[in-house]
Amino acid sequence: MTDDRNTISCAEFQAKLPELIGSGVDVSTDPHLQSCDLCRALLADLETIAEAARQLFPIVEPPEDLWEHIESALKDETDGVDTGGEKATQSS
Ligand SMILES: [Zn+2]
Repeated sequence: MTDDRNTISCAEFQAKLPELIGSGVDVSTDPHLQSCDLCRALLADLETIAEAARQLFPIVEPPEDLWEHIESALKDETDGVDTGGEKATQSS
């Protein structure tokens, strides 16, 4: 009997690998990977490359002074609250 435990061949798996990764599924749970060290190693390589790419093109993070901006905005709002609700009526 041929090795039909793998429903698809390595070539077929590797062909659809970019599509799998692109679709956001957890590729590591793919049945082919469970039984194929070769493709597991390939995926590890791809993840290394992807990690390197992330370091080359880091996702732009919100600037640090954004929080200061938010904080000061909140503070302004709190300061703006009129605590002296009762106006002292001067009747003389
Ligand atoms: Zn394989």
